[in-house]
Amino acid sequence: MARSRDSIADVWGPRTPYRERWPVRVDEHTSEMPERWVPSACLLCSYGCGIDIGVKEGRIVGVRGRESDRTSHGRLGPKGLHSWAANHSRDRLTVPLIRRKGELQPASWDDAMNVIVRRSKELIDRHTANSIAFYTSGQLFLEEYYTLGILGKAGIGTPHMDGNTRLCTATADNALRESFGTDGQPASYADIDVTDAFMLIGHNVASQQTVMWMRMLDRRAGPNPPKLVVIDPRRTETAKEADVHLALRVGTNVALLNGLQHLLIKHDWIDHSFIHAHTVNFERLQHMVSTWTPDRVERVTGVPERLLKQAAALIGESPTLLSTVLQGVYQSMQATAAAVQVNNIHLLRGMIGKPGAGVLQMNGQPTAENTRECGADGDMPGFRNWENETHMEELARIWNVERTKLPTYVPPTHAMQIYRFAEEGTVRMLWISGTNPAVSLPELNRIRRILSKGSLFVVVQDAFRTETTEYADVVLPAALWGEKTGCYTNVDRTVHLSEKAVDPPGQAKSDFDIFLDYAQRMNFSDKDGAPLIKWRTPEECFEAWKRCSKGRPCDYSGLSYAKLRGSAGIQWPCHEQAPEGTPRLYADFRFNTQADYCETYGHDLTTGAVNTPEEYRARDPQGRAFLRAVEYQPPHEEPDEEYPFWLTTGRVVYHWHTRTKSARSRELNEAAPDAFVQMHEEDAANLGIAEGDFVEVASRRGTITVRAKIGDILQGHLFVPFHYGYWDDATRARAANELTISEWDPVSKQPYFKHAAVRAKKVSHAAAERSQPTQTVVGQIKTAALEVMEMPGKIAKAFATTGDRRPISVFLDMTLQSEQQLAEAFKQVARQHIAEPDIHATCMLMASWTADEAERLKPFVAAYHVDGSSHPDGSIKQLFDGPRSGGLGLLRDLHDLWLLSNEVHLGCEAVGQAAKALHDQPLVDACERSLAKVDREIAWLRTRIDQAAPQTLTVS
Ligand code: SF4
Repeated sequence: MARSRDSIADVWGPRTPYRERWPVRVDEHTSEMPERWVPSACLLCSYGCGIDIGVKEGRIVGVRGRESDRTSHGRLGPKGLHSWAANHSRDRLTVPLIRRKGELQPASWDDAMNVIVRRSKELIDRHTANSIAFYTSGQLFLEEYYTLGILGKAGIGTPHMDGNTRLCTATADNALRESFGTDGQPASYADIDVTDAFMLIGHNVASQQTVMWMRMLDRRAGPNPPKLVVIDPRRTETAKEADVHLALRVGTNVALLNGLQHLLIKHDWIDHSFIHAHTVNFERLQHMVSTWTPDRVERVTGVPERLLKQAAALIGESPTLLSTVLQGVYQSMQATAAAVQVNNIHLLRGMIGKPGAGVLQMNGQPTAENTRECGADGDMPGFRNWENETHMEELARIWNVERTKLPTYVPPTHAMQIYRFAEEGTVRMLWISGTNPAVSLPELNRIRRILSKGSLFVVVQDAFRTETTEYADVVLPAALWGEKTGCYTNVDRTVHLSEKAVDPPGQAKSDFDIFLDYAQRMNFSDKDGAPLIKWRTPEECFEAWKRCSKGRPCDYSGLSYAKLRGSAGIQWPCHEQAPEGTPRLYADFRFNTQADYCETYGHDLTTGAVNTPEEYRARDPQGRAFLRAVEYQPPHEEPDEEYPFWLTTGRVVYHWHTRTKSARSRELNEAAPDAFVQMHEEDAANLGIAEGDFVEVASRRGTITVRAKIGDILQGHLFVPFHYGYWDDATRARAANELTISEWDPVSKQPYFKHAAVRAKKVSHAAAERSQPTQTVVGQIKTAALEVMEMPGKIAKAFATTGDRRPISVFLDMTLQSEQQLAEAFKQVARQHIAEPDIHATCMLMASWTADEAERLKPFVAAYHVDGSSHPDGSIKQLFDGPRSGGLGLLRDLHDLWLLSNEVHLGCEAVGQAAKALHDQPLVDACERSLAKVDREIAWLRTRIDQAAPQTLTVS
């Protein structure tokens, strides 16, 4: 047994100050002397340290840091040193489970996969691909994501694919796109080695990425120590080290960052020539932040003027600056808008693409980057733009499928919307891999209700039984890290190859093999009838991925397993021109914003409204970065008399996510065995609460009871770690997400875990033990979905009760009625305003157009009803109640025609989108034709109203 230090007591280890470079320090923890070491990387946070797995007699017996690794130089943190113990847990899942008579019972792989395949085919036949959704993880391998991406997008053709990366890195992804055109971290960890200042925003690096923190601490312990600004409501270990700590109220990041930009511009700490040559929209930003004076910032954020000015001076006068951003921004109000303001600061100062200068919009999870690159979530592989037809045609060519197979007729569905669709009953199968939404999603009581719905068929693929498997109809036992081979890419784009060290236990399989098995059983094929997925091994998949990524920002074409094997880690893009990888992006200050290359056409950062391709192309920045001005918006739920505290949630250093792995290490679990609520000394005193007392914390959505921890947090704020659920202790409600809200950032769709209004009170030990989650959590029995599936004919009966028609028929009816009503209205207005020559002629023409389109819709109405008849439901408002006369009468008639036309527009658009999902091309064509007509009508009506209004409304 070897142990280089007690990393539980000494989390970061001794300082090894910089000399020429960051010194090597090899950390190790083994239970026995290994027979061999297998190269891998740590999978417990997004920093991604190189690690060697010690193996003896087919078992993992420990780990050590890899001296040559560019990320860690041999160091490991407590999670990296201890979590491997989870691989040996006696409660690993070793066989598939199928729910029968309410109980999960062991089954063969054939039986389990056949059940899934049968249900998939039934649902696709009956309800289209849109009835199936996938919710994956940020902890699988690149090859697994790429296989899942093609399987979901081109095999099934569902737009409902997302990962738990939505909870942790969706904002990073979106912030990078909104500023620089595509995803991809500009900076490198090597910038830590040379920067003059760090700005850490909502990033408690000391707890989240312990080795990154060691690197920062070692810089500060050596020559030319960099300055440190920390922005965080809590006085974390990171904040305690800061030169300036800005302890802002939760939810006020945009206000504070606007204030910093105001001071940078006011003191001329900006790079005018960089701004002029390489950015757009400076004037708009300058105007917006001009009102964010330090006193206003103090009123909104609680940060004293003096400290804001100190921070601005430090950031503004430092020769170089490296910023990192994490959940304090991403999971808080105006997430994308705030993260983008950090990018703004770097663009204003010209601090990007140079040694020591750049932004790391950190990832929450180790392979979050790969989820995004490979299209296993809402993104398209290779950072392609789902709205760019050329990009999508290229992807269809690479996969050799028909272009129409790719589900790009709607925006990709984000995780919270997937669960909403499941709640409504339109998503009927949810395949969850490597994640535990029954603890990690907000408002758990609602999530449990959704997962337990009888109409939802749930597949869970995991290494352990979790809170989520208890809602599954089928559970598939998955291999863990060390038991499979694949690549993963950390925050600074470093790619590591992790090799299989030992076999998985029992019949457990890698996620890669499970997805391949499913694709094969589903007979997914390309347009020539060959298997859609053409690889059998992770390495073959990697080669296919290289072809897919070539020419895109995340270009892997210069990498190979052979090249990665034994390397220190290689940063993408890696191709012919950069065979050893690329330390930092945008070194030439040319960004990925060209209309033909960018990954998004951008959003309104306040509302989330998308820019159209035409709007973007009209103002194509052609390689210049976007400065984005955003006004501050307060959170929607704020403390009040009933719920007087802010709740914020987060992590502790010893645990990872919902503790499925970290709690199975005795050392890590003993170091942090239970949830707690952190509160300010005065708040505790006012409530009569002492350290260790039980406290009941309640929001409008739920209640938990946890022990008090006092100090190091702003007054009026409570902090609860989100790791704790119920698989190992169901005696007391303690999951932070019992309290959180179902709201999300309008752009990134990342849920708000960092602010909610709660109340707190001391409770006795006896009362605490009686505290149960709102709904029984562990052992909850789910019966309906599988039992429906196992009884042939029962599904058909269930459909029969819906009236034998798809919901699309309702909208078809409404659209047809709108068209007919509009045609009649045009005729009536034409007759009534015969004295207005243009009105009469044009309205008669439009009446005939509209009547024609209505006739064209009728066959589809019949086709989507079994009895061939329309079923009006009376939902169309009777807007047009003419006749009217005179100027005002005409204006009112035009107004009502405009409203009716828009109703037709919306109906055609909605039915057309649904028709794409149904692959009903004639209906798609009919809707598009109708849309083209009605849009011309709307444009004419608007023009005519604009013309008539001033005269009619001002002259009496
Ligand atoms: S810093 Fe992150 S990647 Fe490195 S050992 Fe710790 S948990 Fe693992």
